[in-house]
Amino acid sequence: MSRHRVVLLPGDGIGPEVVEAARRVVNASGPEIEWVPMEIGAVAFEKYGDALPADTVKEIRACGVALKGPTTTPIAKGYTSANVRLRKELLLYANVRPVKTVPGLETPYGNTDLVVVRENTEDLYSGLENEVAPGVVCSIKVITEVASRRIAKFAFEYALRWGRHRVTAVHKANIMKKADGLFLECARQESLPYAGRVQFDDVLVDAMTMKLVTNPSQYDVLLLENLYGDIVSDLAAGLIGGLGLAPGANYGPDCAVFEAIHGSAPDIAGKGIANPIAIILSAAMMCHHLGDTQSYVRIRKAVRTITRDHRELLTPDLKGKGSTRSLTDAIVKEVERRRREPVTD
Ligand code: NAD
Repeated sequence: MSRHRVVLLPGDGIGPEVVEAARRVVNASGPEIEWVPMEIGAVAFEKYGDALPADTVKEIRACGVALKGPTTTPIAKGYTSANVRLRKELLLYANVRPVKTVPGLETPYGNTDLVVVRENTEDLYSGLENEVAPGVVCSIKVITEVASRRIAKFAFEYALRWGRHRVTAVHKANIMKKADGLFLECARQESLPYAGRVQFDDVLVDAMTMKLVTNPSQYDVLLLENLYGDIVSDLAAGLIGGLGLAPGANYGPDCAVFEAIHGSAPDIAGKGIANPIAIILSAAMMCHHLGDTQSYVRIRKAVRTITRDHRELLTPDLKGKGSTRSLTDAIVKEVERRRREPVTD
């Protein structure tokens, strides 16, 4: 098996705790990985005065792949989000967030198995904000044809590759007729070559959130702009039991960065109770990206076995009595056991 160099970004808050958990699980599963630790977020800002040091970006470019923990962003003041900068600098235009009901943790919302495909580079994340007069602020929503077509094409290709049947564009084009209108029109255009292979429809974002919480199983792949995608993916994570369960990946033409949906969770940082499953599942996606489909399957199956058969080992967010450490130990052990068996899925 070939050896991969992967940048390891612990981030801050609960980041270092859960990233270490994911590293242990990946190592137990078998891919030959040389981890390259680098800094990002509050830790980097305190040390270098920059939440996204140039060396970190350079190393991710060189390796092509990173596993990233969450980073804290100051609210309503301070430096620009390292996440937003990273996604723009590396052109990580596609944020993929699969949200799937976890065995043993079925919720009253019914079966959920959907994928959020979120545009990652523009929209209200453009950072173009001005106080145009005292008490009057403008925040500019940027939607371009290039980025909208690119993410729509990605969503249809993703659907084909992963055996998904339908892409639903989510928008508010009744109000933002130009911005969301352009996004929707690009999605429509890009859907045409996939007609007969992947269905396409669209829905207003407000109506969609209601439909999502009443019957999540009606959705398959959701295609969204940056801000709607961020909000809807947290909502969808809530439907399956919380942020501790929802993985994610950011893809661009040259690099991919794997990270959970959740943030740095300052309320539980350092307590040893953060749920590592979301980043462990993100790391499984990373293994798939690296071509190690056996580890992808093995890690996911190991997580499923633990959530189904060992509820007591889960972390407090899932009403268990376990810690980050004890849950990770159990997943590592299950991965090692499965490594001795042939993989089937
Ligand atoms: P959050 O996701 O950090 O936490 C929201 C709630 O979910 C908290 O109660 C937290 O304890 C809980 N939670 C989150 N992850 C968990 C886990 N793995 N296990 C158990 N419980 C978990 O969102 P927030 O509090 O709004 O944001 C905190 C900081 O994180 C902010 O600075 C924000 O900008 C940042 N953030 C970073 C990223 C990222 O780096 N990709 C993503 C989202 C938010």
